[in-house]
Amino acid sequence: MALAALGLLQAACTAAPSRLRGGPAPGGAPPTNSPDVVAAGNGLAAEKFHGAVRLRADLTVRPIAPGVFLHESTRALPGLGPIGSNGLVVLGSRHALLVDTAWGDEATAALLDWVERETGRRATDLVVTHSHDDRIGGIREARRRGIRVHEFEGTARRASADGWPPPDEVFASEALLAVDDVRAEVFFPGAAHSPDNVVVWLPGPRILFGSCMIRSGDATDVGNRADASLSTWEASLAAVEARFPGPTTVVPGHGSPGGIELIARTRQVVREAVSNPRMP
Ligand SMILES: [Zn+2]
Repeated sequence: MALAALGLLQAACTAAPSRLRGGPAPGGAPPTNSPDVVAAGNGLAAEKFHGAVRLRADLTVRPIAPGVFLHESTRALPGLGPIGSNGLVVLGSRHALLVDTAWGDEATAALLDWVERETGRRATDLVVTHSHDDRIGGIREARRRGIRVHEFEGTARRASADGWPPPDEVFASEALLAVDDVRAEVFFPGAAHSPDNVVVWLPGPRILFGSCMIRSGDATDVGNRADASLSTWEASLAAVEARFPGPTTVVPGHGSPGGIELIARTRQVVREAVSNPRMP
């Protein structure tokens, strides 16, 4: 379902000239808050963007639904090689919501510059889905730009202990974020990948951003389990399913988005890890 929808989006985009690939449109980027941009609303994304755009060697963005972009930044980790990390940019009519920073301040600056230049929106809000550096690594750049940072209280506590700057808004177990016409529900379902992992639900396009508590369809293990809670992970997954049934697209913390099969895949690798606690 999700991939079919994505296919339609990309098929529709294939017919359009790829005028934004590799740089601004002829005549320059849309002026911020121009009437055309505002009137176009979220339709702007489907019409104007298609396929992945590489912003830096370690950073790409691509549309996954009208007005919703996946940002993926890559780092080489010792012993693991290059690992891509996912976040979202969600466009409102005039501003944008960032779900997780890119992996570090420089990549986050490049991402935010791209959003302003190519969509005409300035990011005003950021939600961090847990305190690991693939989620929060660009928080200093976000704060430097005056972006409001929202964190679950467990994330704020852990991030502070790790030396990250504090958020602007802290929530107890859930939050409803509003940026223009966009709504995003943030929910702490219980410990899984980390004690503080939250998921983000976009009710309009029915996108579930599972962050690192959801594994990709081709994952063969639970990923980094340094802070994981294997004994509660499955119950936390069930809480997510109950709260946000029928997602069109599920976005994992690492790897390709898909549909609800990613939740089943995650349950499977968690069960394998529970029964083989010594496995990586
Ligand atoms: Zn993590």
